[in-house]
Amino acid sequence: MAAVQQLMSLSRSPRHIAASIKGWNTQCHVSVRPTLGGVRHASGLVELPETHEMLRKTCRDFAEAELQPYASKFDKEGHVPQEKVKAMGELGLMALAVPEEYGGTGMDYLAYAVAMEEISRGCASAGVIMSAHNSLYIGPIQTFGSEKQKQDWITPFSTGDRVGCFALSEPGNGSDAGAASTTAKKDGSSYILNGTKAWITNGVESEATVVFATTDKDKKHRGISAFYVPKPREGLSLGKKEDKLGIRGSSTCNLIFEDCQVPQENMIGQPGSGFKIAMMTLDAGRIGIAGQALGIAQAAFDCAIDYAGKRMAFNAPILKMQTIQQKIADMGLRIESARLLTYKAAALKDAGKPYSKVRIFVELLAAMAKLSASETATFCAHQSIQILGGMGYVSDMPAERHYRDARITEIYEGTSEIQRLVIAGCLIKEYQAL
Ligand SMILES: Cc1cc2nc3c(=O)[nH]c(=O)nc-3n(C[C@H](O)[C@H](O)[C@H](O)COP(=O)(O)OP(=O)(O)OC[C@H]3O[C@@H](n4cnc5c(N)ncnc54)[C@H](O)[C@@H]3O)c2cc1C
Repeated sequence: MAAVQQLMSLSRSPRHIAASIKGWNTQCHVSVRPTLGGVRHASGLVELPETHEMLRKTCRDFAEAELQPYASKFDKEGHVPQEKVKAMGELGLMALAVPEEYGGTGMDYLAYAVAMEEISRGCASAGVIMSAHNSLYIGPIQTFGSEKQKQDWITPFSTGDRVGCFALSEPGNGSDAGAASTTAKKDGSSYILNGTKAWITNGVESEATVVFATTDKDKKHRGISAFYVPKPREGLSLGKKEDKLGIRGSSTCNLIFEDCQVPQENMIGQPGSGFKIAMMTLDAGRIGIAGQALGIAQAAFDCAIDYAGKRMAFNAPILKMQTIQQKIADMGLRIESARLLTYKAAALKDAGKPYSKVRIFVELLAAMAKLSASETATFCAHQSIQILGGMGYVSDMPAERHYRDARITEIYEGTSEIQRLVIAGCLIKEYQAL
């Protein structure tokens, strides 16, 4: 496939990619050039570096050929498309922002946001598998792991053959992640993990997890540490696969730790740094979820506008009607606004270093991007059903799946309520620092 070869050749020419990315970072802005009709056929109103446009096209071609035609089947059968994940790995999408020395494609977070949108536009389940793997599993190891940990735990997971997962939430606490009750007790040169992690994306298929557990209860969230645990492993079992409303082509389950022994070398970062690792991982992860939400929103928009051009009522296509046009305008406006925020958050993350001053802006913009894109996805999916009328309500058309898939983007990696708290917290901190 030409598209595949195109990205494969991209991933083989890191200098070319690095040069483009460097140019983007030094500008660190989203250049705007109106491209009418671009909402569907280019990247909307935003002009991206050439490398990123090539990536977009490659991902779009792949998603249209390999994901979109099967997304309904994956959804109906609850089939996790591992064969497609493998193909995504061959494209370089399963370690997209990872340096080549660890088997990655060597691109950046802007590229990741673009790819997440296009993959999720074809299939939101493939999008979440990619997102949990790239930003939640690889992300913390890449940012906080030692050289050896990166070689051992990222490189074998860079090809799409193996996926990883991230285990922070528990049955008793999701938003309040600092209240983790899973424990890791020191025992000689090992830690013994006990507790249950809930809602873990890729929980069934994953071959390793980054898990958060309390090593010092007295220190509350400052006593949480991060560990790498390979799967399967003695003392680690899986709960039932959850029967979900949407993203049904991805697995979600509990991870149950019962006297699960993990060598002390498997700790990521310092003892007690786990909560900070989790929060910084989620800042980055939210950019990916914003990309996923944009893809779902765009798919809902595409479905609605195509249908409205063909559907006749009162001797005219409904697309000519003012009320339908208002919906189209509102959807397009929200998609473009959310896309701008998402690209800006990604570009800022690419420009900054962990712990730098940029951190607070990444946190702020990632939360804004995720909130804006996820609310856009639910809005567009809702409008799309309305535009399709009765056909929006049945599974013959993809609108109802987009509606179900969109909903999760307002829940995971921080609910919309939590995003508002994060945004307000950052803004108040900034205001008080003036
Ligand atoms: C399909 C799916 C996949 C997931 N994947 C993962 C994964 O891979 N790894 C992982 O660790 N977790 C995962 N999660 C968990 C997810 O991140 C949590 O569900 C989410 O953070 C919300 O936590 P909760 O479900 O415990 O809700 P709660 O925290 O109980 O929240 C319930 C409600 O109360 C509101 N609320 C809570 N606190 C406040 C507050 N302070 N102010 C205002 N409102 C508040 C919330 O916004 C929400 O509306 C997944 C969840 C789902 C459903």
